Amino acid sequence: MIERIVQPVDFTPRTEDLSVREMQRVTDEWIRTVGVRYFNELTNFAQLAEEVGEVGRLVSRIYGEQSFKESDKERDLGEELADVLWVLTCLANQTGVDLTDAFHKRLAKKTARDKTRHQENDKLRS
Ligand SMILES: [Mg+2]
Repeated sequence: MIERIVQPVDFTPRTEDLSVREMQRVTDEWIRTVGVRYFNELTNFAQLAEEVGEVGRLVSRIYGEQSFKESDKERDLGEELADVLWVLTCLANQTGVDLTDAFHKRLAKKTARDKTRHQENDKLRS
């Protein structure tokens, strides 16, 4: 049996800013030290869907008309959104996506495409 050498890495909660690129690096470091390896892409995509569903469940109860079950009361929207971010980051890492680059490209594309679209949407004026 191959013994894994795990370097002690500090993953204690922090409050300082974290860039998206740094988040991808920290996530990868966690996977390589605390985790064994990434779940495969298909598993992580299913996990992403599951985590988005957990956000939906909570939003439905906080902002929608669904009532809380006792088991929902311990859940925290920030933690659930962080779960989504975590799995999304894992998927980006294992597929070679630099989320910083991808975000900037997407923002530029959306800006060009929707330059006047939302300004002209009467439904947004209420
Ligand atoms: Mg969750």
